[in-house]
Amino acid sequence: MMEKKKKTFRCVIRSEECKGCERCVEACPRGVLKMGTKLNLMSFPAVEYAGSGCIGCGGCFYSCPEPGAITIVEEVEE
Ligand code: SF4
Ligand code: SF4
Repeated sequence: MMEKKKKTFRCVIRSEECKGCERCVEACPRGVLKMGTKLNLMSFPAVEYAGSGCIGCGGCFYSCPEPGAITIVEEVEE
């Protein structure tokens, strides 16, 4: 019998690419993104991932105007 592998997702923010527009925060159905308080090198507050709860829907990725600011990582537990 094949064992079902568990998939989890993680949102990785490249803070130096973020312009702080909050589109991803508004797009996230799980509320796991929020604006951080630290400013990046361009003096924008970068968004932060809560660390868990991402379902990999891609809403943040597709709403972000900055190429490379958001990556969704899929992990498969053996
Ligand atoms: S992929 Fe979906 S659930 Fe995960 S952080 Fe982005 S918008 Fe939220
Ligand atoms: S949508 Fe992109 S640029 Fe805007 S806050 Fe989110 S990560 Fe930053």
